[in-house]
Amino acid sequence: MDECRIPLTDNCIIAIHIDAERKKEQVIIDDMKNVRYLLRGYYDAEVVLAAERPIGSLIIDCFERNYDLINSIILILCRNLGKKDRPEYEMCHDFLLNLYLSDNLGFRFLGIRLWQEYNKSCDEYALRRKDRQKVSAKLIDTIEKLTLPFRTSIADDLLNMQIIHAKDSLCYLWDEYYAHPCGLLWSSAIGVFEYGFADVSLMPLIFYYLSRMYKARMYFQQCKRCDKLFIAKTPSKPTFCGKVCKSQQARENKSHHTEKTRNDELAKAYRNSYDYWYRRMKKLQQEPGVSNMAFEQAYSEFKAFSSGYLKQKNNLASAELKTWIIRQRDIIDKICDEHLDS
Ligand SMILES: [Zn+2]
Repeated sequence: MDECRIPLTDNCIIAIHIDAERKKEQVIIDDMKNVRYLLRGYYDAEVVLAAERPIGSLIIDCFERNYDLINSIILILCRNLGKKDRPEYEMCHDFLLNLYLSDNLGFRFLGIRLWQEYNKSCDEYALRRKDRQKVSAKLIDTIEKLTLPFRTSIADDLLNMQIIHAKDSLCYLWDEYYAHPCGLLWSSAIGVFEYGFADVSLMPLIFYYLSRMYKARMYFQQCKRCDKLFIAKTPSKPTFCGKVCKSQQARENKSHHTEKTRNDELAKAYRNSYDYWYRRMKKLQQEPGVSNMAFEQAYSEFKAFSSGYLKQKNNLASAELKTWIIRQRDIIDKICDEHLDS
Protein backbone atom coordinates (compact mmCIF):
# COMPACT_ATOMS: atom_id res chain seq x y z
CA MET A 1 0.00 0.00 0.00
CA ASP A 2 1.26 3.47 -0.88
CA GLU A 3 2.09 5.63 2.06
CA CYS A 4 -0.53 8.36 2.42
CA ARG A 5 1.06 11.79 2.66
CA ILE A 6 -0.35 15.26 3.11
CA PRO A 7 0.04 17.25 -0.12
CA LEU A 8 2.56 20.02 0.28
CA THR A 9 1.01 23.30 -0.87
CA ASP A 10 2.42 26.76 -1.36
CA ASN A 11 -0.71 28.91 -0.85
CA CYS A 12 -3.52 26.63 0.23
CA ILE A 13 -7.05 28.07 0.33
CA ILE A 14 -10.49 26.73 1.13
CA ALA A 15 -13.17 28.04 -1.23
CA ILE A 16 -16.93 27.61 -0.96
CA HIS A 17 -19.91 28.27 -3.17
CA ILE A 18 -23.34 28.36 -1.54
CA ASP A 19 -26.14 27.15 -3.77
CA ALA A 20 -29.17 28.28 -1.76
CA GLU A 21 -31.63 27.11 -4.38
CA ARG A 22 -30.41 23.51 -4.40
CA LYS A 23 -29.51 23.71 -0.70
CA LYS A 24 -25.94 22.60 -1.41
CA GLU A 25 -22.43 23.81 -0.71
CA GLN A 26 -19.41 23.25 -2.95
CA VAL A 27 -16.05 23.07 -1.18
CA ILE A 28 -12.67 23.20 -2.90
CA ILE A 29 -9.33 22.92 -1.11
CA ASP A 30 -5.96 23.32 -2.80
CA ASP A 31 -3.35 25.84 -3.84
CA MET A 32 -4.91 29.05 -5.09
CA LYS A 33 -3.57 28.51 -8.61
CA ASN A 34 -5.15 25.04 -8.89
CA VAL A 35 -8.49 26.26 -7.52
CA ARG A 36 -8.57 29.08 -10.03
CA TYR A 37 -7.67 26.68 -12.83
CA LEU A 38 -10.58 24.44 -11.89
CA LEU A 39 -13.01 27.36 -11.65
CA ARG A 40 -12.04 28.48 -15.11
CA GLY A 41 -13.52 25.27 -16.40
CA TYR A 42 -10.50 23.01 -16.69
CA TYR A 43 -12.13 19.92 -15.36
CA ASP A 44 -8.94 17.93 -15.76
CA ALA A 45 -7.44 20.12 -13.03
CA GLU A 46 -6.69 17.89 -10.10
CA VAL A 47 -7.40 19.48 -6.76
CA VAL A 48 -6.83 18.09 -3.29
CA LEU A 49 -10.53 18.20 -2.55
CA ALA A 50 -13.69 19.17 -4.45
CA ALA A 51 -16.92 18.17 -2.76
CA GLU A 52 -20.61 18.94 -2.87
CA ARG A 53 -22.53 18.56 0.39
CA PRO A 54 -25.82 19.71 1.97
CA ILE A 55 -25.84 23.41 2.76
CA GLY A 56 -24.44 24.28 6.20
CA SER A 57 -22.16 21.21 6.40
CA LEU A 58 -18.92 23.21 6.59
CA ILE A 59 -20.32 25.45 9.33
CA ILE A 60 -21.36 22.37 11.31
CA ASP A 61 -17.80 21.03 10.82
CA CYS A 62 -16.50 24.29 12.30
CA PHE A 63 -18.79 23.90 15.32
CA GLU A 64 -16.70 20.91 16.45
CA ARG A 65 -14.52 21.95 19.36
CA ASN A 66 -11.35 20.13 20.34
CA TYR A 67 -9.16 21.96 22.83
CA ASP A 68 -6.80 19.01 23.45
CA LEU A 69 -6.08 18.55 19.77
CA ILE A 70 -5.39 22.25 19.20
CA ASN A 71 -3.09 22.46 22.22
CA SER A 72 -1.21 19.39 21.00
CA ILE A 73 -0.75 20.98 17.56
CA ILE A 74 0.93 24.05 19.06
CA LEU A 75 3.16 21.95 21.30
CA ILE A 76 4.21 19.42 18.71
CA LEU A 77 4.80 21.73 15.74
CA CYS A 78 6.57 24.52 17.63
CA ARG A 79 8.82 22.25 19.66
CA ASN A 80 9.91 20.37 16.59
CA LEU A 81 11.00 23.06 14.21
CA GLY A 82 14.24 22.25 12.49
CA LYS A 83 15.83 20.27 9.72
CA LYS A 84 13.53 18.26 7.55
CA ASP A 85 15.68 15.15 7.77
CA ARG A 86 15.09 14.79 11.51
CA PRO A 87 12.73 12.08 12.79
CA GLU A 88 10.63 14.82 14.47
CA TYR A 89 9.71 16.10 11.01
CA GLU A 90 8.02 12.78 10.17
CA MET A 91 6.37 12.74 13.60
CA CYS A 92 4.78 16.15 12.88
CA HIS A 93 3.64 14.89 9.49
CA ASP A 94 2.00 11.82 11.01
CA PHE A 95 0.27 13.96 13.64
CA LEU A 96 -1.21 16.29 10.99
CA LEU A 97 -2.12 13.31 8.80
CA ASN A 98 -4.91 12.47 11.28
CA LEU A 99 -6.40 15.90 10.61
CA TYR A 100 -5.94 15.55 6.87
CA LEU A 101 -7.78 12.21 6.83
CA SER A 102 -10.70 13.49 8.91
CA ASP A 103 -14.25 13.58 7.51
CA ASN A 104 -14.50 17.07 8.96
CA LEU A 105 -13.47 19.32 6.04
CA GLY A 106 -12.49 22.11 8.42
CA PHE A 107 -9.97 19.73 9.99
CA ARG A 108 -8.85 18.53 6.57
CA PHE A 109 -8.07 22.11 5.53
CA LEU A 110 -6.20 22.58 8.82
CA GLY A 111 -4.13 19.43 8.14
CA ILE A 112 -2.95 20.72 4.74
CA ARG A 113 -2.62 24.37 5.74
CA LEU A 114 -0.64 23.57 8.90
CA TRP A 115 1.66 21.23 7.00
CA GLN A 116 2.37 24.07 4.57
CA GLU A 117 3.02 26.48 7.44
CA TYR A 118 5.21 24.01 9.32
CA ASN A 119 7.37 23.37 6.25
CA LYS A 120 7.85 27.08 5.60
CA SER A 121 8.70 27.64 9.26
CA CYS A 122 11.26 24.81 9.17
CA ASP A 123 12.99 26.47 6.19
CA GLU A 124 12.99 29.85 7.91
CA TYR A 125 14.20 28.28 11.14
CA ALA A 126 17.20 26.81 9.34
CA LEU A 127 18.04 30.13 7.68
CA ARG A 128 17.48 32.59 10.52
CA ARG A 129 19.68 31.24 13.27
CA LYS A 130 19.51 34.48 15.25
CA ASP A 131 15.73 34.96 15.00
CA ARG A 132 14.52 31.47 15.73
CA GLN A 133 12.21 32.65 18.48
CA LYS A 134 10.51 34.98 16.03
CA VAL A 135 9.94 32.09 13.63
CA SER A 136 8.43 30.04 16.42
CA ALA A 137 6.24 32.94 17.63
CA LYS A 138 4.98 33.53 14.08
CA LEU A 139 4.06 29.87 13.75
CA ILE A 140 2.13 29.95 17.04
CA ASP A 141 0.26 33.04 15.85
CA THR A 142 -0.72 31.40 12.56
CA ILE A 143 -1.81 28.20 14.31
CA GLU A 144 -3.97 30.22 16.68
CA LYS A 145 -5.67 32.05 13.81
CA LEU A 146 -6.22 28.86 11.84
CA THR A 147 -7.65 26.91 14.76
CA LEU A 148 -9.85 29.62 16.26
CA PRO A 149 -13.26 28.13 15.30
CA PHE A 150 -12.31 24.85 16.99
CA ARG A 151 -11.31 26.57 20.23
CA THR A 152 -14.34 28.84 20.67
CA SER A 153 -18.06 28.37 21.05
CA ILE A 154 -19.16 29.73 17.71
CA ALA A 155 -22.31 27.56 17.70
CA ASP A 156 -23.49 29.21 20.93
CA ASP A 157 -22.55 32.66 19.54
CA LEU A 158 -24.63 32.20 16.44
CA LEU A 159 -27.66 30.54 18.02
CA ASN A 160 -27.85 33.13 20.80
CA MET A 161 -27.40 36.12 18.49
CA GLN A 162 -30.09 34.81 16.18
CA ILE A 163 -32.57 34.85 19.05
CA ILE A 164 -31.52 38.19 20.57
CA HIS A 165 -31.04 40.05 17.27
CA ALA A 166 -33.13 38.06 14.81
CA LYS A 167 -33.00 40.65 12.02
CA ASP A 168 -29.31 41.59 12.01
CA SER A 169 -27.51 39.06 14.20
CA LEU A 170 -24.30 39.21 12.09
CA CYS A 171 -23.76 42.84 13.15
CA TYR A 172 -23.38 41.72 16.74
CA LEU A 173 -20.77 38.98 16.27
CA TRP A 174 -17.39 39.75 17.81
CA ASP A 175 -14.71 41.30 15.59
CA GLU A 176 -12.65 38.12 15.15
CA TYR A 177 -15.27 37.06 12.59
CA TYR A 178 -14.25 39.88 10.28
CA ALA A 179 -10.72 40.75 11.46
CA HIS A 180 -9.18 38.95 8.46
CA PRO A 181 -9.99 39.17 4.77
CA CYS A 182 -12.37 36.85 3.00
CA GLY A 183 -11.68 36.76 -0.72
CA LEU A 184 -14.00 36.20 -3.63
CA LEU A 185 -13.50 34.14 -6.77
CA TRP A 186 -15.85 33.53 -9.67
CA SER A 187 -16.31 30.36 -11.57
CA SER A 188 -16.82 30.88 -15.29
CA ALA A 189 -17.25 27.24 -16.18
CA ILE A 190 -21.06 27.00 -16.49
CA GLY A 191 -22.61 30.34 -15.68
CA VAL A 192 -20.86 32.58 -13.18
CA PHE A 193 -20.82 31.42 -9.59
CA GLU A 194 -19.36 33.20 -6.62
CA TYR A 195 -16.92 31.49 -4.29
CA GLY A 196 -15.75 32.89 -0.96
CA PHE A 197 -12.32 31.78 0.18
CA ALA A 198 -10.02 32.00 3.19
CA ASP A 199 -6.33 31.28 3.54
CA VAL A 200 -5.52 31.92 7.21
CA SER A 201 -8.53 32.39 9.42
CA LEU A 202 -11.72 30.45 8.80
CA MET A 203 -13.75 33.02 10.76
CA PRO A 204 -14.38 35.46 7.87
CA LEU A 205 -15.38 32.52 5.69
CA ILE A 206 -17.90 31.48 8.33
CA PHE A 207 -19.14 35.08 8.38
CA TYR A 208 -19.46 35.09 4.59
CA TYR A 209 -21.22 31.72 4.62
CA LEU A 210 -23.78 32.87 7.21
CA SER A 211 -24.48 36.14 5.40
CA ARG A 212 -25.38 34.14 2.28
CA MET A 213 -27.53 31.70 4.24
CA TYR A 214 -29.40 34.41 6.14
CA LYS A 215 -30.06 36.25 2.88
CA ALA A 216 -31.74 33.08 1.62
CA ARG A 217 -33.71 32.83 4.91
CA MET A 218 -31.88 29.77 6.18
CA TYR A 219 -30.85 29.62 9.81
CA PHE A 220 -29.25 27.07 12.08
CA GLN A 221 -31.48 25.85 14.85
CA GLN A 222 -31.23 23.18 17.49
CA CYS A 223 -34.19 20.78 17.44
CA LYS A 224 -36.52 21.30 20.43
CA ARG A 225 -36.68 17.54 20.91
CA CYS A 226 -33.40 15.82 19.89
CA ASP A 227 -30.94 18.80 20.04
CA LYS A 228 -29.71 18.05 16.50
CA LEU A 229 -28.60 21.07 14.45
CA PHE A 230 -30.63 21.63 11.31
CA ILE A 231 -31.52 24.38 8.85
CA ALA A 232 -34.76 26.24 9.67
CA LYS A 233 -36.69 28.97 7.91
CA THR A 234 -36.89 31.14 11.00
CA PRO A 235 -34.05 32.35 13.24
CA SER A 236 -35.82 32.72 16.55
CA LYS A 237 -38.94 30.57 16.80
CA PRO A 238 -37.78 27.18 18.17
CA THR A 239 -38.97 24.28 16.06
CA PHE A 240 -38.26 20.61 15.15
CA CYS A 241 -35.62 19.07 12.88
CA GLY A 242 -38.17 17.00 10.94
CA LYS A 243 -41.47 15.16 10.80
CA VAL A 244 -40.31 12.35 13.11
CA CYS A 245 -39.45 14.64 16.04
CA LYS A 246 -42.56 16.76 15.45
CA SER A 247 -44.96 13.79 15.50
CA GLN A 248 -43.18 12.15 18.45
CA GLN A 249 -43.56 15.36 20.44
CA ALA A 250 -47.25 15.67 19.48
CA ARG A 251 -47.86 12.07 20.60
CA GLU A 252 -46.12 12.73 23.90
CA ASN A 253 -48.11 15.94 24.48
CA LYS A 254 -51.34 14.03 23.78
CA SER A 255 -50.49 11.25 26.23
CA HIS A 256 -49.57 13.87 28.85
CA HIS A 257 -52.95 15.46 28.24
CA THR A 258 -54.77 12.10 28.53
CA GLU A 259 -52.91 11.31 31.74
CA LYS A 260 -53.82 14.71 33.17
CA THR A 261 -57.51 14.30 32.26
CA ARG A 262 -57.56 10.85 33.91
CA ASN A 263 -56.00 12.21 37.08
CA ASP A 264 -58.43 15.13 37.19
CA GLU A 265 -61.49 12.87 36.78
CA LEU A 266 -60.33 10.42 39.43
CA ALA A 267 -59.47 13.20 41.87
CA LYS A 268 -62.99 14.57 41.40
CA ALA A 269 -64.60 11.17 42.05
CA TYR A 270 -62.45 10.65 45.16
CA ARG A 271 -63.22 14.15 46.42
CA ASN A 272 -66.98 13.55 46.07
CA SER A 273 -66.75 10.29 48.01
CA TYR A 274 -64.50 11.89 50.59
CA ASP A 275 -67.18 14.58 51.19
CA TYR A 276 -69.83 11.84 51.43
CA TRP A 277 -67.81 9.95 54.07
CA TYR A 278 -67.07 13.16 55.93
CA ARG A 279 -70.74 14.19 56.17
CA ARG A 280 -71.82 10.76 57.41
CA MET A 281 -69.01 10.49 59.99
CA LYS A 282 -69.85 13.96 61.29
CA LYS A 283 -73.43 12.87 61.74
CA LEU A 284 -72.26 9.79 63.70
CA GLN A 285 -70.14 12.03 65.90
CA GLN A 286 -72.85 14.61 66.57
CA GLU A 287 -75.88 12.33 66.93
CA PRO A 288 -76.83 12.01 70.60
CA GLY A 289 -76.79 8.46 71.91
CA VAL A 290 -74.31 7.08 69.31
CA SER A 291 -71.28 5.49 70.97
CA ASN A 292 -67.81 6.84 70.37
CA MET A 293 -66.80 3.37 69.24
CA ALA A 294 -69.09 3.66 66.21
CA PHE A 295 -67.33 6.85 65.15
CA GLU A 296 -63.89 5.31 65.70
CA GLN A 297 -64.85 2.29 63.60
CA ALA A 298 -66.04 4.64 60.84
CA TYR A 299 -62.85 6.69 61.06
CA SER A 300 -60.66 3.61 60.83
CA GLU A 301 -62.63 2.42 57.75
CA PHE A 302 -62.26 5.89 56.25
CA LYS A 303 -58.46 5.71 56.59
CA ALA A 304 -58.50 2.28 54.94
CA PHE A 305 -60.55 3.78 52.07
CA SER A 306 -58.04 6.64 51.62
CA SER A 307 -54.95 4.42 51.54
CA GLY A 308 -56.82 1.84 49.43
CA TYR A 309 -57.55 4.55 46.86
CA LEU A 310 -53.83 5.34 46.44
CA LYS A 311 -53.00 1.64 45.97
CA GLN A 312 -55.85 0.96 43.54
CA LYS A 313 -54.95 4.03 41.48
CA ASN A 314 -51.97 2.20 40.01
CA ASN A 315 -53.80 -1.10 39.50
CA LEU A 316 -57.20 -0.28 38.11
CA ALA A 317 -58.41 1.39 34.93
CA SER A 318 -60.27 4.67 35.36
CA ALA A 319 -63.82 3.25 35.05
CA GLU A 320 -63.08 0.39 37.47
CA LEU A 321 -61.48 2.74 39.96
CA LYS A 322 -64.48 5.06 39.87
CA THR A 323 -66.80 2.09 40.54
CA TRP A 324 -64.51 0.99 43.39
CA ILE A 325 -64.65 4.49 44.94
CA ILE A 326 -68.47 4.52 44.85
CA ARG A 327 -68.69 0.96 46.20
CA GLN A 328 -66.64 1.96 49.23
CA ARG A 329 -69.58 4.12 50.33
CA ASP A 330 -71.40 0.88 51.24
CA ILE A 331 -69.03 0.53 54.22
CA ILE A 332 -69.92 3.88 55.81
CA ASP A 333 -73.60 3.39 54.88
CA LYS A 334 -73.63 0.04 56.73
CA ILE A 335 -72.10 1.55 59.90
CA CYS A 336 -74.55 4.45 59.80
CA ASP A 337 -77.53 2.11 59.26
CA GLU A 338 -76.50 0.19 62.36
CA HIS A 339 -76.16 3.24 64.59
CA LEU A 340 -78.42 5.97 63.27
CA ASP A 341 -82.16 6.08 63.19
CA SER A 342 -83.30 6.69 59.66
ZN1 LIG B 1 -35.12 16.42 16.23
